[in-house]
Amino acid sequence: MADSVVVVGGGVIGLACAFALQRSGMDVTVIDAGPRELAASHVNAGWVCPTLCEPVPSPGLVTTSARWMLKSDSPLYIKPRFDRSFSRWLIEFWKHCNARDYHAGTAATAALSARTLELYDDLREHGVQFEEHEDGLLFAYVGEEAMHHDYDEIQWVKEYGFEIPNLLDGDAARALEPGLSDEVVGGYWMRHERSVRPDTLVTGFRDRLREGGAVIRDGERVIGFGARDGRVTSVVTDAATYAASTVVVAAGAWTPQILEPLGVHVPIEAGK
Ligand SMILES: Cc1cc2nc3c(=O)[nH]c(=O)nc-3n(C[C@H](O)[C@H](O)[C@H](O)COP(=O)(O)OP(=O)(O)OC[C@H]3O[C@@H](n4cnc5c(N)ncnc54)[C@H](O)[C@@H]3O)c2cc1C
Repeated sequence: MADSVVVVGGGVIGLACAFALQRSGMDVTVIDAGPRELAASHVNAGWVCPTLCEPVPSPGLVTTSARWMLKSDSPLYIKPRFDRSFSRWLIEFWKHCNARDYHAGTAATAALSARTLELYDDLREHGVQFEEHEDGLLFAYVGEEAMHHDYDEIQWVKEYGFEIPNLLDGDAARALEPGLSDEVVGGYWMRHERSVRPDTLVTGFRDRLREGGAVIRDGERVIGFGARDGRVTSVVTDAATYAASTVVVAAGAWTPQILEPLGVHVPIEAGK
């Protein structure tokens, strides 16, 4: 009998893990609390943009992020909480806002992203159907300074095989996107970046998983785990208990709460 894996969380990460595990011959059960339509994986902007691989913590973000926390319409909003886990997370986040960690993070993500587009093609070749657009991503600027700053920042991802396009002037940018105003002074078009309709990606994974024999339990909340000899052996939901030789927890922003009873601390905070 094949090994049985339970994946906790039916967002795009859980589903992609489930599909990879199914392809490697395992029996897979995915458990998702739902409602699925509200999960980040269903409602995101759908950009698949491996070239944009900078981590959020970056030099200078300590004071900016602290200020942003006071305003919920900030570009990056993290709702502050007064508890130990949030303080611990925030200190770690701020400690990484330096040039060395920023470049190490970019290098790690760039290496991880190098095969992203190829792997999306591979999903399609293996029967995951989803709506995808290969229109590229146009960056348009109304300020020269910001444009040159961002353009310089992305240059070094060339090291990882990414192609960086030439700068465009305002007219060339408008020729690509006639909706841009006369205020636009220029930009660049990352032509290999793609976008998907995120809800179709989730549905595509689910359909393909079911076709391959996976079980997907919607509307069940994982509330704990059974363990023997220091190993997790089952997953307990509000409706049933599932035996598992392996468990993947991919529950997005809820992951830390789910893992807390096992003494596993994962530094994830919800943000906007
Ligand atoms: C507005 C917005 C725009 C974005 N745009 C982009 C973009 O353009 N490109 C990009 O790459 N990323 C984008 N993102 C980020 C992207 O959506 C997330 O990184 C990704 O969806 C995370 O997937 P996930 O599977 O980890 O989490 P989620 O999608 O949050 O899925 C987690 C799942 O776990 C389930 N769950 C939680 N607790 C339990 C429990 N106890 N038991 C069982 N199930 C549970 C939830 O129901 C949920 O379905 C965007 C995000 C947002 C919010």
